[in-house]
Amino acid sequence: MGNRFQVKDRFADGAQYIDGRLRPGTSGRSHTVVDPATGQEVLTYELAGTADVDEAVAAAKRAFPAWSAATPGERSDALHRLAGVLAEQAEDFAYAESLQCGKPVKLSTEFDVPGTIDNTAFFAGAARHLQGQAAGEYSGDHTSYVRREAIGVVGSIAPWNYPLQMAAWKILPAIAAGNTIVLKPAELTPLTSLMFAQAAKEAGIPDGVVNIVTGAGRDAGEHLVGHPDVVMTSFTGSTAVGKRVAEIATATVKRLHLELGGKAPFLVFDDADLEAAAHGAVAASLINTGQDCTAATRAYVQRPLHDAFVARVAELMETVRLGDPFAPTTDLGPLVSHAQRDRVAAFVERARAYATVVTGGEAPGGELAEGAYYRPTLISGAAQDSEVVQSEIFGPVLVVLPFDTDDEGLALANDTPYGLAASAWSRDLYRANRATRELKAGCVWVNDHIPIISEMPHGGYKASGFGKDMSTYSFEEYTQVKHVMYDNTAVAAKDWHRTIFGDR
Ligand code: NAD
Repeated sequence: MGNRFQVKDRFADGAQYIDGRLRPGTSGRSHTVVDPATGQEVLTYELAGTADVDEAVAAAKRAFPAWSAATPGERSDALHRLAGVLAEQAEDFAYAESLQCGKPVKLSTEFDVPGTIDNTAFFAGAARHLQGQAAGEYSGDHTSYVRREAIGVVGSIAPWNYPLQMAAWKILPAIAAGNTIVLKPAELTPLTSLMFAQAAKEAGIPDGVVNIVTGAGRDAGEHLVGHPDVVMTSFTGSTAVGKRVAEIATATVKRLHLELGGKAPFLVFDDADLEAAAHGAVAASLINTGQDCTAATRAYVQRPLHDAFVARVAELMETVRLGDPFAPTTDLGPLVSHAQRDRVAAFVERARAYATVVTGGEAPGGELAEGAYYRPTLISGAAQDSEVVQSEIFGPVLVVLPFDTDDEGLALANDTPYGLAASAWSRDLYRANRATRELKAGCVWVNDHIPIISEMPHGGYKASGFGKDMSTYSFEEYTQVKHVMYDNTAVAAKDWHRTIFGDR
């Protein structure tokens, strides 16, 4: 691919973006972004400390009055321009995203980057369509209406698996609604969040509206969540860290939006198209090397199809091509880091004691030995209460279990703490429709698993969190609703005053 720009030159001024310019962090500690495909350094940068967070929040606070007073049309124009800047720089974004995450370039160019541009265009339109109850004389003596208002400085925290899309999902609804934002991306993957903020400036979005602090979770992250001038916390990441974030946000009475972990079931009924389900399971478990909160992780297959499904999925997994993320023929890149690869491998090694590793279960050698690669892995024979069925592995690992009755399949699918996404595979309309009602997840697909669209909400049930990203539902998180009530009687002694001024 073209546009392999010099990352070190681009971020020579530092990897904090505060009040419209790049600068170094002042924590006194540095972090090295590593290309997980090679283990080579990409960029070493100074991490943000609490003082940097304070400056970013102060910049966002200064920018808030003017940005929130801009008309929806003005904010919409700015976001349309941003979509244009992102489209012009699409190759740069795809390059940086693949470099820092190890994503195959066909994924970053066909999914991450166009998805982000589409999201931006969506919020440019949505900014002009804030909804509310119709104004009216609901009490008879008053006119009531609602104002949907921006809430102030939003503090957001994002994970490393889809850094660009997560930055966009946080920034776009927040600023479309008139808020200003300080976003903390994951330390491993800061590049495209910084580039997104720079693109916002090029699009004419005022300095201070979008700020990026790239620091560690424990200090910069917790300081941002607890900051007294931050009115809302929007967090995407693991359920464990989400609980800590919730504690801090609750102690400082902040509005809270949590997009947490997932362990999506993939429910195959015995009338399903086996070939479609097997292809779907391989693609949906391996997308982004399985580091996807909605990835298919637990396939429950009705007994008549179970063995054929296992055989076909294993066969298809073995055709997936691991390789250099920048080669157009690569299907599967490395995991985001060697630490994440080792964590995934440890899950699989422990599973050997109680289940069968049908295919995969190892890191490839040869040319890929230096990278954080792991082969597509299929596990069968694990018990429902085992670790590989209950815990989020976040790697290219699919577990398959059999079920007998529809009731049992649905109960097993719902039997984890998580509830982010699920799919049902059947050609029977009534069966599929029942599954869509009974699966406890924020998104249920029928005969597919993974696609998302800007117009529809994304968010969890149960321990997968609460609140919605994307779609106009996200404005419920990023705006506050004010009831305004006008007296229409113009009399001093109003009827309801009788509760104070004696008898009627
Ligand atoms: P993580 O929870 O370890 O980290 C997420 C972010 O939180 C990072 O920016 C990290 O620096 C920060 N952080 C860590 N400790 C913190 C603390 N004490 N206070 C404040 N911030 C802190 O998650 P991860 O490993 O980066 O990402 C993978 C996780 O994200 C998975 O669980 C995945 O399911 C989840 N995820 C969920 C969604 C969703 O939409 N529900 C989307 C993508 C990823």
